[in-house]
Amino acid sequence: MQTLELRGVQKSFGSLNVLNGINMRIEKGEFAAIVGPSGCGKSTALRMFAGLDQPSGGEVLADGKPVTKPDPSRVLIFQEHALYPWRTVEANVGFGLELAGVDKKEKKKRVDEVLEKVGLSGFQTYYPSQLSGGMKQRASIARALVMNPEVLLLDEPYGALDAITRLSMQNELIRLWRGTGKTMLLITHDIDEAVYLADTIYVMSPRPGRLVARIECGMERPRNRNGDEFVRIREQVMGHLDIGSYEI
Ligand code: ADP
Ligand code: MG
Repeated sequence: MQTLELRGVQKSFGSLNVLNGINMRIEKGEFAAIVGPSGCGKSTALRMFAGLDQPSGGEVLADGKPVTKPDPSRVLIFQEHALYPWRTVEANVGFGLELAGVDKKEKKKRVDEVLEKVGLSGFQTYYPSQLSGGMKQRASIARALVMNPEVLLLDEPYGALDAITRLSMQNELIRLWRGTGKTMLLITHDIDEAVYLADTIYVMSPRPGRLVARIECGMERPRNRNGDEFVRIREQVMGHLDIGSYEI
């Protein structure tokens, strides 16, 4: 598994200063979350870890080495599940293996294994249009997992799901993380989701995004959303987000 690091990262798009001197270090196998207001540069930071964007200043490192391009060891999962509508679940999940030239039998085995892991056994022949939102998101997670990445970069993966599905997907994500030990970096605008899931929460300021807090959540899992410690950390995150000062 890999460590992920930003060292003094600055990012501008033309004259728009998006990230302003960000430092963070996520350890191997850690579950980290970033929360921050819309437009503060969260997705930009994640895209840099994925090798899809370069910093204007500072360094982006994976396992101590500069990230200069995408690598199959780090996959990005986002809200729009981007499944191919004309491919079955099995063909969607197996697509990367197909491109990599993995033979049919091996591909089938790995696809079946990963579908089992995300709770989609038996849905191999379904098309995306026949699946619920939660199932589509599971299929896109399966598609990432089948390539056996070391790092999962999750950009508001549950943003499009209803509240109840979202809660059960959070439990699934924890189960998956525990079962695989992968390094996880989750972006979410849902404070409770961050407190429920993460070992470490990074709070960002409005654009230009700076880190305003790094909060450790040492609570045992499964976490009680109404427990004293949970409520205390939620308030701490809210305090750093300074929501009362936003214009409405
Ligand atoms: P977040 O994910 O925190 O909502 P983003 O990282 O997507 O924020 O975007 C931060 C800011 O950078 C936004 O104002 C957005 O419009 C701008 N931005 C993002 N990508 C580009 C791009 N490729 N070109 C120009 N501006 C961009
Ligand atoms: Mg975003």
